[in-house]
Amino acid sequence: MTGTTSPLDLVRATIGEVNDLLCSVNLLTWDARTKMPKAGAEARGNMLATLTRTAHNLLTSDDFSSELARAEAGAKGEDAAELVQIREGVDTLRRIPARLLNDIAELKPRAGESWQAARRNDNFALFQPDLERMVDLNRELAAATGFSDHPYDALVGSYEPGMTSARLKTLFEELRGGILPLLAAIRERGAQPDTSFLSQRDYPVTTQLQAAERFAALVGYDFERGRVDRSAHPFEISFTRNDVRMTTRFNQNWMPMSLFGALHETGHALYEQGVKPEYVRTVFTTDLVGLYAVAGTSYGTHESQSRLWENLVGRSATFWQAHYPKLKELYPTQLNDVGVNAFVKAINTVRPGYIRVEADELTYNLHIMLRVELEMALLDGSLAVADIPEAWNEKTREYLGLEVPNNADGCLQDIHWSTGLIGAFSTYTIGNVMSVQWLQAAKQQDSRVAPALDKGDVAPLLAWLQENIYQHGRRYSADELLVRATGNSLTAAPYLGYLNSKYGELYDL
Ligand code: ZN
Repeated sequence: MTGTTSPLDLVRATIGEVNDLLCSVNLLTWDARTKMPKAGAEARGNMLATLTRTAHNLLTSDDFSSELARAEAGAKGEDAAELVQIREGVDTLRRIPARLLNDIAELKPRAGESWQAARRNDNFALFQPDLERMVDLNRELAAATGFSDHPYDALVGSYEPGMTSARLKTLFEELRGGILPLLAAIRERGAQPDTSFLSQRDYPVTTQLQAAERFAALVGYDFERGRVDRSAHPFEISFTRNDVRMTTRFNQNWMPMSLFGALHETGHALYEQGVKPEYVRTVFTTDLVGLYAVAGTSYGTHESQSRLWENLVGRSATFWQAHYPKLKELYPTQLNDVGVNAFVKAINTVRPGYIRVEADELTYNLHIMLRVELEMALLDGSLAVADIPEAWNEKTREYLGLEVPNNADGCLQDIHWSTGLIGAFSTYTIGNVMSVQWLQAAKQQDSRVAPALDKGDVAPLLAWLQENIYQHGRRYSADELLVRATGNSLTAAPYLGYLNSKYGELYDL
């Protein structure tokens, strides 16, 4: 019997264990957001902290460092690339004190509860102390991670490696330069499509869930390796490619919420389900710095897939010309007198509102800019947490032309800050911009993609995305993937072109 275990095998075994722990964290997180009674929050916080700390300890131990050094000696090719990623993750992690990560993990469930209470009672003060603590911990995290220009760079870098506040400011300016005039033109046009049939008719929740599941399956979500549940704030989460779950939420007075929410999360889920099987329990499905089991290479790349399936495919006229009868079958009386063109216009209405997750494609980015600018100010100290409501309302006035009626519909609407996600919002707009780059490249490189989409067939597009993005997991960075597949880095022009042509046509500008 020859039973020698190489240093590389030992390193891989440890990464596999770390991935198991982090998948367990994801499972407990899924449960906390879908099933857990409120009283369970404190115990859940301890469980999550213990699992995360154990993963952290495995990665930062001196034993693991020695194993890693032995494996690195003489590694070549793909093995070397794998070890480079592990090394980068471990080095960054060793700069961050374990105590700090533990504090953040423990704060999350408590902040989640106080955020919900603040929202329920429309009382920002109930959330303020926990949010102040969260901002302080994130400032510490930025300092420990390291940055040269702005503390925001260290935080955004953990969601979107290579992104900086300076790059974002340029991107946002370019986007504003295109979006604000387009929004003004739509406002001037005055005429809005009829959307009353989506809000004023009875859409039973059970049928909405059926519709969500049917359309998720239609674009390729594999129910043998997933399930759909209900939660206050929709999300997708996975415990390897073989168990990729998502949630949606239902509004009986706005049917599109559950349908497009489900298509959005389906986009995230297709990415996770699509990673190649041999990457399961490896560094290519593990974010070592974020201590998160995920196959998507960055938050922005992930979001580019949810946006692509929700908006570029799911809200396109061609998709509904092919599939509208399937929706009418579920809602025979509700949609009886509504033609497909009226439906497509209604689901693409541009109407500035307070709520980000209900925002249309065009104004969505303005919601993001508002949040990112506040985050940058919170981190560099130019804005105090106590002053968030006022700053929020002022920016809403400036960008969207709206008066915020209360904090529950204003600065308390998002779950993100309560879960410690500071720096992540920008990745939504990055995803929007990137999504059009992918779609253009797919159409240019595979002549079957565009004609199939014209007939409502998404299979060739899914195959292209699978080949160029999903299968690779975290093997390449967002920038590497983009350049490999499209020849360009992140660039605003294709996205602005798409918005102008889409809304020009819909609003007859
Ligand atoms: Zn998303």
